[in-house]
Amino acid sequence: MIIAIASGKGGTGKTTIATNLALVAPAAQYLDCDVEEPNGHLFLKPEIEKKTDVTLPIPQVDEKLCSLCGLCAEACEFNALAVISEKVMVFADLCHGCGTCSFVCPEKAISETGKVIGRLEQGSARAVNGEKFIFGHGVTRIGNPLTPPIIKNVKQLIDNDCFTIMDSPPGTSCPMVQTLIGSDFCLFVTEPTPFGLNDLELAVGVARQLKIPCGIVVNRSDSGDEEIRNYCQRENIPILLEIPFDRDLAFAYSKGEAAVHHSEKLRKSFQQLYQQIVAEVAK
Ligand code: SF4
Ligand code: SF4
Repeated sequence: MIIAIASGKGGTGKTTIATNLALVAPAAQYLDCDVEEPNGHLFLKPEIEKKTDVTLPIPQVDEKLCSLCGLCAEACEFNALAVISEKVMVFADLCHGCGTCSFVCPEKAISETGKVIGRLEQGSARAVNGEKFIFGHGVTRIGNPLTPPIIKNVKQLIDNDCFTIMDSPPGTSCPMVQTLIGSDFCLFVTEPTPFGLNDLELAVGVARQLKIPCGIVVNRSDSGDEEIRNYCQRENIPILLEIPFDRDLAFAYSKGEAAVHHSEKLRKSFQQLYQQIVAEVAK
């Protein structure tokens, strides 16, 4: 079962929910797809056992074979190639590594070279019951604007026998969509404010386009207004957990400690959340 944990906006507590759920769910697997700023490891404290470079295939033109026909530049949707002064220029920062240019080249003048755009790290962390579970995350290289290929690499770690928790990047752009694709369920973490509602509506729209059922966790549920609850009722979206603000838990968070290690009540809440997700997916 694959669960994406997402939020329309940053700072709602998405990683808090994802990591605490991973610590109590049976046979869990935690994959951090928020590759621009992965921070699940701060709470799960995994042992990293393997690090692999993530590369993107960038075209290399053999000038001896190239006839300067320009077909590659015409075919590139991302303007990453141009024929200038009798030479094919490659703008590697714009290249998405799609391979179209080498496919269309009539002279077979284009080969590919791997450009390192990030890193995949995998290992294991320990659940509250002491059992090990699989941990994985991607880390983008500073300055790399293209994160979906790194997310794809993280998703290759999905084990279909596990309860896979994917911690999505915030927002509703390509990295979030890339994370959600193929999920059985999406859990949105929000807060009861007008900004929270606006971004939740956008995020639910993405999940519906992808035909992924969703549920909601309301964080800091004792603040703000009732609009999130009204919206969920109107749209028939289940609220699976509400977490009021708790000063002690906020303090534990600031020290990089997981809530379920501190509060028996929250541990039970997250166990119930797991069961509710399983029941929602079964529907
Ligand atoms: S691999 Fe794709 S994106 Fe990159 S230069 Fe070739 S056609 Fe353009
Ligand atoms: S398509 Fe091939 S032959 Fe034509 S300009 Fe590009 S690299 Fe050169």
